[in-house]
Amino acid sequence: MISLHDLYEEGTEAVKEAVRSFGARHPLTVGGAEPDWKVAEKHFTHLIEVIMGTAAPAPAQTVAAASIRRAENEAVQLLLALHPVPDYRCPICVKRGRYPL
Ligand SMILES: [Zn+2]
Repeated sequence: MISLHDLYEEGTEAVKEAVRSFGARHPLTVGGAEPDWKVAEKHFTHLIEVIMGTAAPAPAQTVAAASIRRAENEAVQLLLALHPVPDYRCPICVKRGRYPL
């Protein structure tokens, strides 16, 4: 599964910005400017899993590589769509009640 870091390295300028913006939704300290990339990575992976779960309700090990790639693409599209929204919250954070704004 693609990591947020790989996505940043391989992404276009728009993708890089979306990744930075997603990272910024996960500050190390409350109200801080420094992103907690470990949490952001975990949430990005979880986002892909959630998308995969809704697209293909098969157990993870039987999900074809094509489904994983499709879910990864969906997750990237989601980051790109969320990026221009002011003060958007990471859907995984919302689900887990993290970082209330
Ligand atoms: Zn999050």
